[in-house]
Amino acid sequence: MSQEPAAPGSPGQGCRCPAIGGRSGALVFAHVPVTVAVTPARYLAAMAMDISGEWWRGENAADLAEYLEELAAGGYRVDRTAEAVCTDCDGRSFRLRADPLEGAVERTCVGCGQVLRMLDSGDFWEDAEPEEVVCPCGADVFDVVVGFSLHADDEVRWVSVGVRCITDGVLGCCADWKINYGPSSHLLELA
Ligand SMILES: [Zn+2]
Ligand SMILES: [Zn+2]
Repeated sequence: MSQEPAAPGSPGQGCRCPAIGGRSGALVFAHVPVTVAVTPARYLAAMAMDISGEWWRGENAADLAEYLEELAAGGYRVDRTAEAVCTDCDGRSFRLRADPLEGAVERTCVGCGQVLRMLDSGDFWEDAEPEEVVCPCGADVFDVVVGFSLHADDEVRWVSVGVRCITDGVLGCCADWKINYGPSSHLLELA
């Protein structure tokens, strides 16, 4: 499975999780087919992740990281993952606004209200048209894990922002985008 990388200067192209409607004005992440390069038996043996239904579900951030690795957004292997943790209160639950076309995500900690534009989203925020991210179940609080695809020199090639609904465990990817500049390794600390 391969996909052409986005052209330079067009972050966000290649995103496989467009809005599919839902709550008015909100971004609902799209279904990722279970047939995407998956070996179900492996999961049944090793993981708590449930891929039997229309939506994949996970129990924790580790399941979400595995989901991002299977998704391989942009067609690239995910080499590293990092869970989003609030730098003020150590909270791990967030509300999100995302623009999957521009490639930008803002997270708000539900514990303390800290707002952070993830990764390099701040650089693109002026051009973004962010929408609230909502699970198909209607809930809007998520665990968040970032997947990084790296070049051989550890520069970042592609990022994907995974979400796990804390209400029903549904897994999704609300945005992914290409990183077409360097140095970029600082992004690994900006989940
Ligand atoms: Zn916080
Ligand atoms: Zn949900």
